[in-house]
Amino acid sequence: MNYAWGQFPTLQKIRVHYSDGRPTMRPPPEDCVQKFNPDGSYEYFQEAKPGDPYYQRVLRECGEYLAQQVQSLQPSLCVLDDIPEGYSVYGHRVKGVGKDERTDRYIFGHPTGGRYRSPNEFKVHVLWLASNEEHDYDDCPCKCCKAAMK
Ligand SMILES: [Zn+2]
Repeated sequence: MNYAWGQFPTLQKIRVHYSDGRPTMRPPPEDCVQKFNPDGSYEYFQEAKPGDPYYQRVLRECGEYLAQQVQSLQPSLCVLDDIPEGYSVYGHRVKGVGKDERTDRYIFGHPTGGRYRSPNEFKVHVLWLASNEEHDYDDCPCKCCKAAMK
């Protein structure tokens, strides 16, 4: 779809009013400090702030997914207002000996202590937060809820 200058559509923000997120399930502070080993290797967690491109990607992918369930919304124009309360986005920065640093990204906060490895995994749980009025975990098909039931 093309838009003339001055007619850019505004993003529609979606707010999820219920959350089961637990801040205590995030990495402990001692795991969030960059400590070098004698060989130069290190690993630590770093919280992503709302301005972080990955954080924004989580908001967009979740917003788009929620909007797909509602016919009156155009998914590509929808974004989550914020990560549901109690959840947080972290990068795990790892550098092995003689290797380049890499960052693996996770979303923490699920009551079981489980973590999501992508917005794609997390959005399933966000839809359940937004739509399951009974908050019945049996109804959530996300990987953390499924793992908890085994
Ligand atoms: Zn779930």
